Amino acid sequence: MAEEKAGEERSWPDGYDLHQDCSIRGSNLCWKFADSVGCSGCYLAADKKGKECSEAKQRWDETLALLPRDIDTLGCGSACLLCAADPEPADGYALLEMANEDPYYEKGIIFGYGKKVRSPVGSLVSVPIRVGRRCRRAFRMVECIQIVWPIITFLVSLLLLAVPQIGQPMSRVSPLLPVAFVVLLTVGGYYLGRNLSLWYVEKHADEVRFDLSRIPLIRAMLGRGWYYFQVNHGLPRLTFTKKKPVERLFPPMQAEPEAAE
Ligand SMILES: [Zn+2]
Repeated sequence: MAEEKAGEERSWPDGYDLHQDCSIRGSNLCWKFADSVGCSGCYLAADKKGKECSEAKQRWDETLALLPRDIDTLGCGSACLLCAADPEPADGYALLEMANEDPYYEKGIIFGYGKKVRSPVGSLVSVPIRVGRRCRRAFRMVECIQIVWPIITFLVSLLLLAVPQIGQPMSRVSPLLPVAFVVLLTVGGYYLGRNLSLWYVEKHADEVRFDLSRIPLIRAMLGRGWYYFQVNHGLPRLTFTKKKPVERLFPPMQAEPEAAE
């Protein structure tokens, strides 16, 4: 994507005094850091030497080339993008971590040491998607159902064991039986929670896009080799926040694209 590399010609906001001798000056990577904090807060140039900086700059350019150019529109605008119909007003962001095997990256097989193998994560980006109250609650409800049920059945199993008519006969059969009883009920609670959350997702699929590939830009990313970095029972894990961690991944274009639908 040649147009994104013409960093030097971009106009920088007033008050940015970019260091003349920085090896990433004016690049896409420079924009990513300077856009929110400016040179004073950019850890990259402060921590890394020239070669590491230019490698990071090149890798970031390659990562951006794998992304749809208008990906930042997911974090702009006033309507919730997770609503399947009648979008509610957005009041925050859902952060979606997406990974890609490209660009090629290799690391040691055991904690970075030993034989070098290709890492499944060549790129990792956090994509902010604007979200409203209703959809945030729906996603949180799914997680809550999954967490709460194993806890409930665990506590119920302990309460049942505390009843002498139940606990004592079990211990007489085998001291391991009460432990097996607790494990069995907790595992049962886990599967119950999982099925109930699937039922909840299916029931609300007309209102909430639990399947994020229904968002065209996310679908486009999946088509370019990106995958959900963290998946929980088949659903991508989202982190909800009121503020974007990074304002944008790409530098602004001369004419901003229309906000995504
Ligand atoms: Zn919504």
